Amino acid sequence: MSARYSFLSLISNALNGQTGWRPAWRNAPPKPAYDVIIVGGGGHGLATAYYLAKEHGIRNVAVLEKGHIGSGNAGRNTTIIRSNYLLPGNEPFYEWSMKLWEGLEQDLNYNAMVSQRGIINLIHSDAQRDAYARRGNAMRLAGAGSELLDAETVRKMCPFLNFDNARFPIKGGLMQPRAGTARHDAVVWGYARAADRLGVDIIQNCEVTGFIRDKGAVVGVETTRGAIRGGKVALAVAGSTSRLTRHLDLRMPLESHVLQAFVSEGLKPLIPGVITFGMGHFYVSQSDKGGLVFGGDIDGYNSYAQRGNMPVVEDVLEGGMALMPMIGRLRLLRSWGGLVDMSMDGSPIIDVGPLPGLYLNTGWNYGGFKATPASGWCFAYTIAQDRAHDFNAAFRLDRFRSGHIIDEKGVGAQPNLH
Ligand SMILES: Cc1cc2nc3c(=O)[nH]c(=O)nc-3n(C[C@H](O)[C@H](O)[C@H](O)COP(=O)(O)OP(=O)(O)OC[C@H]3O[C@@H](n4cnc5c(N)ncnc54)[C@H](O)[C@@H]3O)c2cc1C
Repeated sequence: MSARYSFLSLISNALNGQTGWRPAWRNAPPKPAYDVIIVGGGGHGLATAYYLAKEHGIRNVAVLEKGHIGSGNAGRNTTIIRSNYLLPGNEPFYEWSMKLWEGLEQDLNYNAMVSQRGIINLIHSDAQRDAYARRGNAMRLAGAGSELLDAETVRKMCPFLNFDNARFPIKGGLMQPRAGTARHDAVVWGYARAADRLGVDIIQNCEVTGFIRDKGAVVGVETTRGAIRGGKVALAVAGSTSRLTRHLDLRMPLESHVLQAFVSEGLKPLIPGVITFGMGHFYVSQSDKGGLVFGGDIDGYNSYAQRGNMPVVEDVLEGGMALMPMIGRLRLLRSWGGLVDMSMDGSPIIDVGPLPGLYLNTGWNYGGFKATPASGWCFAYTIAQDRAHDFNAAFRLDRFRSGHIIDEKGVGAQPNLH
């Protein structure tokens, strides 16, 4: 078993030439059968395994990952965590996630670099101020906290912004002071290590290629490392969900799109937290190393490729130039793309079924990183109890048939507007 991290373990390893560290998790070979198989070694799959073991005592669990853990969106996102939602189906879930973030490092015994630096959604019109005031009130009612800022307050916090843009003048902002960022890789590694310590098998380089069925029920998976039986099979594969459910003849209310992100060379501390410029489809924060981390809209067509295209690069950088023209003098270090699972109402699915033995966790759109703790917690509950917890009660798959959609922005079935 991996060692517990502590001040004492740091000192003793410093004195013995760093020879006492053990691997953070085992490289487990697959067993023929498990009580629960989780497909997808991103944050959501690993968190689900951890909470299954910790909260429900279900430890005979495998997490199957086709590459290395965190090689999907968990390791490609811009690390923003927040719970600034409006609708009752969403807000309590994301606020529960925020509470789990606030205790995560102690819980996992791992430094996930959770940094509550605040998020500001910029306001550019009176109508937008009304909408944000309404959302801020809903956040306060849910205990998430919010502050409506006037233009002068935003100017004091972020003097480098272009306040007098003729098209989008900055008239204020909606702030959630408890929001911020967390180190995405560390979240993956922290959950993996904690799940492994409770007996979960983390199996990398193991791609699920099909399902084993028995009288309609899902009873296992075919993988590149052989067949594995599972009492329950849970999918947490984000943008690859519809590729897998195709093997089960299930058509999902999802579109897979590439979402790109960018990081600049390092600067001295400049950006106080996270700033979003919704009207220009641009957002920015600053990493602990000093790089500006930013992104914008999804690519314009459906794709399963984890790489982006040039028109969106141009579009994002135009948004950045409109908001903070000095960004044009920065050098870009890297850009990358991830495969996001855009649902038709912009809200997630955490549900039992629709086939016996199958459990679904998907539809995270642009924003599943912040959901990681609550998603794993609720999915574990749903798998263990065969029913939803109150926090994910609205995230049903059949809402798209019944009409109980959770359209946070009221924009309809249009992924690029969610
Ligand atoms: C550029 C970008 C920026 C983002 N920024 C933010 C942000 O700031 N804040 C926020 O909250 N969210 C953000 N997101 C969204 C967020 O990253 C995702 O919603 C979240 O990470 C999804 O986590 P996951 O564990 O479900 O998926 P993933 O991390 O993608 O995990 C799924 C895993 O399944 C594996 N897999 C797929 N198919 C198979 C198979 N057949 N067999 C076995 N394994 C398989 C994949 O390799 C992958 O590792 C961003 C996303 C991107 C791409």
